[in-house]
Amino acid sequence: MAFKIALSPEDRSTNAYHPQALYQGRSTNEQEQMRRCADLLEQELLRCGFEVKNMQYGNMYDRVKDGNAWGADLYIALHTNGFDGTVAGTRVHCYPSEGSRKIGKLIQDRIAPLSPGTSERLVESTGLYELKATRMPAVLPEFGFHDNLAEAQWLIDNMEAIAAETAKAVCDYFGVAYVAAPEEKPTTGPESPLDGVSFRLQALAGGKVIREWEIN
Ligand SMILES: [Zn+2]
Repeated sequence: MAFKIALSPEDRSTNAYHPQALYQGRSTNEQEQMRRCADLLEQELLRCGFEVKNMQYGNMYDRVKDGNAWGADLYIALHTNGFDGTVAGTRVHCYPSEGSRKIGKLIQDRIAPLSPGTSERLVESTGLYELKATRMPAVLPEFGFHDNLAEAQWLIDNMEAIAAETAKAVCDYFGVAYVAAPEEKPTTGPESPLDGVSFRLQALAGGKVIREWEIN
């Protein structure tokens, strides 16, 4: 039976990313980016054989209720952080339980080296509702600080990698083999092996070249 993963991306669109960090040429917010993250992570986890509940509705109370009712094996609340614009780095929050610490450290160890900021640590918390009210191991990664320009742009530009690394951490947690996305075929370069090769065609008569063509 497949392991069940509940995803709870930030529900507030009022958490603005740094105004100069652009997504598709415009400013963005935590809800939009964490929904992107949840969609990418869902694809990663489905490919690796997990069942996924991608909860992009309601608030954390609705989601904890549904995650518990569904019987999730792991609950991941997806977030980015905010402070005063000067702080950056990855901080994964976990509950002080064996399973939550384990998944927390796996995600922290994969994302922290990638994020530009260095103010990072695994944070044990008993106060966060999604960590304490969930019946299964739960984790709340703050992948980076969205009010820091460099880190906000990194978050936007690297969401595929963030989702892939998080999926690898989930695979490690359950002892499941990670299945990489199929490589995309290159869209540039020669259409056929003979492209870029030219031929010289010669018509001979009596050992003499009577006509010549150049074929590209
Ligand atoms: Zn958040």
